[in-house]
Amino acid sequence: MPDLIQKLPSDWPAFERQHVWHPYASMVKPIPAYPVASASGVRLKLEDGRQLIDGMSSWWSAIHGYNHPRLNAAAETQLADMSHVMFGGLTHRPAAELAARLIELTPAPLNRVFFSDSGSVAVEVALKMALQYWQARGETRRTRFLSFRGGYHGDTIGAMAVSDPENGLHSLFSGTLTQQLFAPRPPSRASAAFDSRQLEQLRKTATDHREELAGIIIEPLVQGAGGMHFYHPDYLRELRQLCDQQGLLLIFDEIATGFGRTGSLFATEQAGVVPDIICLGKALTGGYMSLAATLTREAVASGICQGDPGVFMHGPTFMANPLACAVASASIDLLLESPWRARVQTIEQGLQAGLIPVSELPGVADVRVLGAIGVVEMKQPLDVTRTQAALVERGVWLRPFGKLLYTMPPYIIDSNDLAHLTDTMCEVVELVAD
Ligand SMILES: *Cc1c(COP(=O)(O)O)cnc(C)c1O
Repeated sequence: MPDLIQKLPSDWPAFERQHVWHPYASMVKPIPAYPVASASGVRLKLEDGRQLIDGMSSWWSAIHGYNHPRLNAAAETQLADMSHVMFGGLTHRPAAELAARLIELTPAPLNRVFFSDSGSVAVEVALKMALQYWQARGETRRTRFLSFRGGYHGDTIGAMAVSDPENGLHSLFSGTLTQQLFAPRPPSRASAAFDSRQLEQLRKTATDHREELAGIIIEPLVQGAGGMHFYHPDYLRELRQLCDQQGLLLIFDEIATGFGRTGSLFATEQAGVVPDIICLGKALTGGYMSLAATLTREAVASGICQGDPGVFMHGPTFMANPLACAVASASIDLLLESPWRARVQTIEQGLQAGLIPVSELPGVADVRVLGAIGVVEMKQPLDVTRTQAALVERGVWLRPFGKLLYTMPPYIIDSNDLAHLTDTMCEVVELVAD
């Protein structure tokens, strides 16, 4: 073992390639992983000295860019006090400060906060809240969830079960997952004007299975990893009505859309509806570390705690990690003090203008933009390695996924960098489209 460690400095990437998993990767034939030495602003600096504009915000999270002095200071200050203590029987100011901010920012009745360590866990917590709520009320048959084709809610078993049932990501496990119910993907915002009949099948499924349903879970406005699909806010209004009529709990998974990405602080604001439970993650700490939160209303929280066993049965080891909470509060303050709305709008316009050139290409199926999200959908799946190499050669970091080449840059990106990002996307689309 010491041998291994001693040899490391010279050739750590080779060692890493052989021994360390990457997301959705092969351990036998891994695609290249580019070694990053540091990151600052919107740029990733590779070990070989090259610099890449990060068009991914490290999967929606680094909204302020990297190495931000305010976030660094928040982490350092908190580090000097304590980086972590258990949350069972102990508490701390960073948790209270962050909870206050989340309650303030999310729609009014959501005021009971559960902190966890990642988005998937926040979804598990939301599902368990709904299950325990009905259990406590004696409605023990309500054990299933209704969700949507094309949805994505995370990689843990419970979250997978409510994610798209056929999509490549999760179909493998379908035999072992709880069989949930699925409604059709909400129709695309661009292809059809909203019509309440679009919910007909959803209404039928919800009504038919009313007695066994605990709730409905959906990503508001944007289905992310399930296809970067945008749909109409009125859909959510009708969905809220349906849940009220049928007495179902409505869960919004805002893990990707939260903190300004779609142009409003939370996507739910654009529909003017309030869910019973909301999940937050990704940009919560500005991309500094893993933290997530599940918020619910008082009535759901007290409902859960009325029955047997009288407590909510979840409690991760790193619950409400003080370091992560402190950075999250600083990130929220930074966001609110910044002209984020104008920035997201400017990015939206830049993406719209910058991606137009490829919209008519024969290999391109669709180009769509919402807030600070820009998507080029191809007719054929992209070759990840080849596409990524072409992007990196031109100084841009993106991770193509299936037929999609998409970007959600940090809000601080300036117009030159944004233009370079979209120009490069267009160039590479043309290059790989043939
Ligand atoms: C990323 C994501 C998750 C899972 O979050 P992790 O932190 O990766 O576990 C869940 N829901 C949505 C909508 C996401 O985008």
